[in-house]
Amino acid sequence: QPVLAVVGRPNVGKSTLVNRILGRREAVVQDVPGVTRDRVAYDAYWSGRRFTLVDTGGWEPDATGLQAAVAAQAEMAMQTADAVLLVVDATVGATTTEETVARVLRRSKKPVLLAANKVDDDRLLADTASLWSLGLGEPHPVSALHGRSSGDLLDAVVAALPTAPREIGTVSAGPRRVALVGKPNVGKSSLLNKLSGEQRAVVDSVAGTTVDPVDSLVELDGEPWRFVDTAGLRKRVNSANGAEYYASLRTKTAIDAAEVAIVLLDAAEPLSEQDLRVLTMVVEAGRACVLAFNKWDLVDEDRRHAMVRELDRGLVRVPWAEKVNISALTGRSVRKLAPALRTALKSWDQRVPTGQLNGWLSDLVAATPPPVRGGKQPKVLFATQAGIRPPTLVLFTTGFLEAGYRRFIERKFREQFGFPGSPVRVNVRVRE
Ligand code: GDP
Repeated sequence: QPVLAVVGRPNVGKSTLVNRILGRREAVVQDVPGVTRDRVAYDAYWSGRRFTLVDTGGWEPDATGLQAAVAAQAEMAMQTADAVLLVVDATVGATTTEETVARVLRRSKKPVLLAANKVDDDRLLADTASLWSLGLGEPHPVSALHGRSSGDLLDAVVAALPTAPREIGTVSAGPRRVALVGKPNVGKSSLLNKLSGEQRAVVDSVAGTTVDPVDSLVELDGEPWRFVDTAGLRKRVNSANGAEYYASLRTKTAIDAAEVAIVLLDAAEPLSEQDLRVLTMVVEAGRACVLAFNKWDLVDEDRRHAMVRELDRGLVRVPWAEKVNISALTGRSVRKLAPALRTALKSWDQRVPTGQLNGWLSDLVAATPPPVRGGKQPKVLFATQAGIRPPTLVLFTTGFLEAGYRRFIERKFREQFGFPGSPVRVNVRVRE
């Protein structure tokens, strides 16, 4: 999702214009006295295009003086954004502040748009011509207050933004795709048979869809699900040589083809290396995940106690996974699988609006700033959720963020917004 930074002196009507562009789709955080929100980011839409709009703070003189503060802010906007919108008060014209900014912006190879605001009636149109002197191209006359011509301005903005890359992840059509994975003898075939048999609804063809012969359509909870790459489960391959290699290859193929994985674990035994390898595959592929502790019929009180500690340590990579205790043998609780799959997929598809995300993030980062590295304090400028399937956050920063701090952000993000059953990726875009 491309980023547009809006810059301008205080009182040029920048906030009003930002509101106008957002169509008040997201509540704009009002400035609270004593609280400096340097930048606030929002989702904006125009002509079917999505972009992130970053509202940079007003320029106030600091210790280094107004000109330096302004230049630094323009520099920052230029580095973080894909395009910059400079808002000027047409009734005042270009001041030395704007001339300084224009000088910085002209050096940039990024598109710069110039909005001449407060052109509330036609008599003021003539004033905008003087703004050509900034060397930023054509001034776009607008009246943020009355909405005048903001459509034309947005057309120009959208035309200037780079085309967004395609959504991360695959788009699904028809039944959602499930991988049933786990080490040999954990009970995959038994579970598939149970699910198919119990529902008496192994559908081999659904009207209008062709089923890959290696997939099975299974109805769970009144809904068809596509269990991918299950051929190997039905006809057990009895090859001693390389059996494990093929098993792990099958696991990888199934996970890649799926949207959500049911990772079957043997509840009666300690977690094994093999279990962890499968979990790693799911996390790395970015798939939603349901952990099913199978053979629950064999679990007694002692084992249950032992498990609690074992899992705390063993499942550190997937504390967010949905968990169900089942028995493929007796059929106990297998009906809990469908709700768990739905929860996990809902999270996998979920998107947090940029305004909401940044309201939360600015408080978090203010309370716990990233650790200093090489004598420098990296600043987190803003974030957007760049994608779903899996949900992917992009943090825009002035420096590298350590893995520990990224995990901290992820943990806090989950505390705030949930996302049970889905991995969440946290990427960092450093602007030097
Ligand atoms: P797969 O290799 O993962 O497909 O495992 P299978 O489905 O072939 O099961 C391996 C063995 O575990 C078989 O002997 C099953 O009967 C047994 N099994 C599977 N699920 C359960 C369960 O829930 N409880 C118990 N006690 N045994 C199970």
